[in-house]
Amino acid sequence: MPDRASPGGEREKLVYKRVLVKLSGEAFMDSEVGYGIDTDTVFSIAERLAEVHRMGVRLALVVGGGNIFRGDAASKNGIDRVTADFMGMLATVMNALALQDALEKQGVDTRVQTAINMQSIAEPYIRRRALRHQDKERVVLFAAGTGNPYFTTDTAASLRAMEINAQVILKGTKVDGVYSADPKKDPAAVKISKLSYIDVLKKGLQVMDATAISLCMDNNLPIIVFDLTTEGNIKKVIFGEEIGTIVQGE
Ligand code: UDP
Repeated sequence: MPDRASPGGEREKLVYKRVLVKLSGEAFMDSEVGYGIDTDTVFSIAERLAEVHRMGVRLALVVGGGNIFRGDAASKNGIDRVTADFMGMLATVMNALALQDALEKQGVDTRVQTAINMQSIAEPYIRRRALRHQDKERVVLFAAGTGNPYFTTDTAASLRAMEINAQVILKGTKVDGVYSADPKKDPAAVKISKLSYIDVLKKGLQVMDATAISLCMDNNLPIIVFDLTTEGNIKKVIFGEEIGTIVQGE
């Protein structure tokens, strides 16, 4: 792929050239409101992603839906679990469309692919087509999770990352990495910069759910958890700067 922004060869210095960014639904909301899609927040995420895209990084995105609807929570309130999970998957499509719009306003060419067919809105997920879009320097947004109830968008992120040969999953959050305990509740909590998959599973650390972690472990796909809200961070990660927490094999 040609070096879009830096003919001088900045792309050569990138440690990660093929990445999948997982954004939780939370990333889309105004934290004071605690629900829904905040357009300013989505625009600032899009700016950061567009910058990385222009540097020549092959970028794919998986978006969550927890800012709008979570199947497990809704099922506890009486909605049938499978129906609730489908509603959750639909929520991810709303986020993907919002982010697509914001990216296109940054001049980035994009395609949304959904794991549940809804062709009037977006393309169905077809792996080879996704790869072709990337060859054409389009950012692909994968929506509707895996298309299956009882799964999460973290698992969708691991699956898609493997399918498109991403080198790493970048999990953008609002905290600067994984902590030994919840820093808001426990003042003794410390940030951990490196973790093995097994540690995450054994200690039940909040990186991604167990299915997603197992999939990454079986296929040796590293995960970097970092604070997406701080400007310049995503750039630092792809240049190999050790910020956040990396989860990988021992
Ligand atoms: N979901 C699902 N299957 C999937 C992905 C998502 O059923 O493969 C549903 C599930 O109900 C989940 C909701 O979609 O609660 C939103 O996804 P997720 O909780 O992963 O979003 P995030 O936490 O990343 O915002």
